[in-house]
Amino acid sequence: MQIKRLRLSGFKSFVEPADLRIEPGLTGVVGPNGCGKSNLLEALRWAMGENSAKSMRGSGMEDVIFAGTSRRPQRDFAEVSILAEEVGGTDGDEVEIVRRIERGAGSAYRINGRDVRAKDVALLFADAATGAHSPALVSQGRISAVISAKPEQRRQMLEEAAGIAGLHVRRRDAEQR
Ligand code: ATP
Ligand code: MG
Repeated sequence: MQIKRLRLSGFKSFVEPADLRIEPGLTGVVGPNGCGKSNLLEALRWAMGENSAKSMRGSGMEDVIFAGTSRRPQRDFAEVSILAEEVGGTDGDEVEIVRRIERGAGSAYRINGRDVRAKDVALLFADAATGAHSPALVSQGRISAVISAKPEQRRQMLEEAAGIAGLHVRRRDAEQR
């Protein structure tokens, strides 16, 4: 999977719409403490379906919405869009994944403009061996978490890295039918 663009609006400190083009190869994000580097990585994870508010450093999911400052009012919604290609079985086609949260209304997802379930986004990324829990997204503190993980958790990380985690998601989906 190649992420080509990340768009944020009202997400955490990114109150004004921000449009980041991501070129092939290595991308570095630099800036002083507190400028929003980790927020960017969290935006990626969030749009890919992260559902733990704690791992987004909040107490509830609405904490990702811009909370306001002494000079700016809070926002009513946050939206993150990922434009990517070669996601799952989609070959060379570009795919746009959008997640939006509104105060009091929860999250909604769209894939290429069509309303979808959170599960559809999870399946899309599971097949691409990436997603909200991808071992490719190493957040601050994650290294020590890997070291201290229980064997079961470590197996899950290895399965994700090996690209077979999608099979578990599909099995759970099939069992619920
Ligand atoms: P460091 O170099 O210390 O790791 P960083 O660049 O990773 O810093 P982040 O942790 O991404 O910085 O950004 C933290 C900033 O985001 C803080 O100033 C915090 O107040 C702001 N922030 C987080 N959530 C919100 C929110 N919901 N509304 C407004 N600002 C927020
Ligand atoms: Mg940080």
